[in-house]
Amino acid sequence: MPAVDDIETVGVVGAGTMGSGIAQVAATAGYDVVMRDVEPALVDDGRERIAGSLDRLVSNDALTRGEADATLDRIAGTTDLDEFAPADLVVEAVVEDMSIKQDVFADLDAVTPDHAVLATNTSTLSITTIAAATDRPEQVVGVHFMNPVPVMDGVEVVVGEKTAPGVVELAHAFAESLEKETWEADDKPGFVSNRILMPWINEGVRALDEGVATKDDIDRGMKLGTNVPMGPLELADHIGLDVCLDATETLHEELGERFRPAYLLRRKVEAGDLGKKTGTGFYEYE
Ligand code: NAD
Repeated sequence: MPAVDDIETVGVVGAGTMGSGIAQVAATAGYDVVMRDVEPALVDDGRERIAGSLDRLVSNDALTRGEADATLDRIAGTTDLDEFAPADLVVEAVVEDMSIKQDVFADLDAVTPDHAVLATNTSTLSITTIAAATDRPEQVVGVHFMNPVPVMDGVEVVVGEKTAPGVVELAHAFAESLEKETWEADDKPGFVSNRILMPWINEGVRALDEGVATKDDIDRGMKLGTNVPMGPLELADHIGLDVCLDATETLHEELGERFRPAYLLRRKVEAGDLGKKTGTGFYEYE
């Protein structure tokens, strides 16, 4: 198993919202990055998202043009899994689906070097179950980045049943090398972050559905009353109502009745009102 200083090449599986953000922060920290998605167009979309994010950092004087160009040059996009052959550490950020994640981990186990650490960015799924698809469960760990990755300071390290202590330490050190701060959680559904955040959002939706207050008053009440930057309905729109529903369903299945998704949350997802990404959620977006 490598020490953090031995890591040269970082693999990222998935070039979506999270994968592209993880590739960006890893390349900014100086790692060579290989970012894979299933279609060339999806890899290109990921690279464009990264280029746009780096451009914003240049306009805000947070990065020079030279640094931004060098960062983008360190990211190789691919659809070919064999490109992970030199990876010392891989972060998986594909869709939140256990069977897809297990397939990805079985493939990674076959193509990466024996020393490579395999990390998952899952929000709610079991690290232990994902790790069981490999012959190296002690080298599998949760490294849960927050969205948007280049902006959010925190990373949750999640310890699977068989994760080796040295791998947990490496996960913290790797996140810190990306200028993130970490906290640690055991492999229980939702870990710390989503076990607490998702019921908070879900209760906000229930409060709206039951007429406790208007959506504006629910969000204002939580912002002014508890000093959070976004209320539960605004935050749900930002995350995506489908993502919130998936996560809440996992908590409900694993932890029981008190986590049941709000009726209105399910109804809005069924109607296709997923929040900012579709232009309508609890609020309307241009
Ligand atoms: P996304 O849908 O934006 O991106 C997922 C990408 O994975 C897609 O581009 C898809 O084509 C790709 N993909 C699917 N199967 C693949 C495979 N076999 N190989 C390579 N690529 C594959 O999803 P996202 O929001 O980036 O979420 C990714 C993961 O991160 C999920 O596990 C999610 O729970 C977690 N997460 C999401 C957020 C968030 O706010 N969006 C926050 C924290 C964690």
